[in-house]
Amino acid sequence: MAQKRPDRTLGGVHDTFWQYCNQGELRLQSCSRCNRTFWPPMPVCDTCGTFDLEWKPLSGRGKVVSFCTFERQYYDELPPPVDCIVVKLEEGPQFLSNPQGFTWKDISFELPVKLTFIDCEDAAGPFKLPVFERA
Ligand SMILES: [Zn+2]
Repeated sequence: MAQKRPDRTLGGVHDTFWQYCNQGELRLQSCSRCNRTFWPPMPVCDTCGTFDLEWKPLSGRGKVVSFCTFERQYYDELPPPVDCIVVKLEEGPQFLSNPQGFTWKDISFELPVKLTFIDCEDAAGPFKLPVFERA
């Protein structure tokens, strides 16, 4: 059953990101000029200014470099506690996500994690959310 989630940011390059997620792929934009891979999605490279970007498939591997637990309810769809993690992806960007199958109690600095997807739903409909489990 799909988890209810707060509404995603949609439109433009965000739609492309979610289309790949719905195919079970995590892709981020990579600049063809300066070779930087970045997050969040943008129409232009914020380092060199080129519009020549491609959607690069990622390994799905990374390490937890920060985390927090929300103990207050900020969204109707997410009853507390809600664990959030910052994953430093193998390709460089830091990606905010949720742990899957573990909690903040299991986290140590640079804990290796791997990508998986969970079925979610917001006002725009069903989607696959990229989350991370222990590698
Ligand atoms: Zn660039």
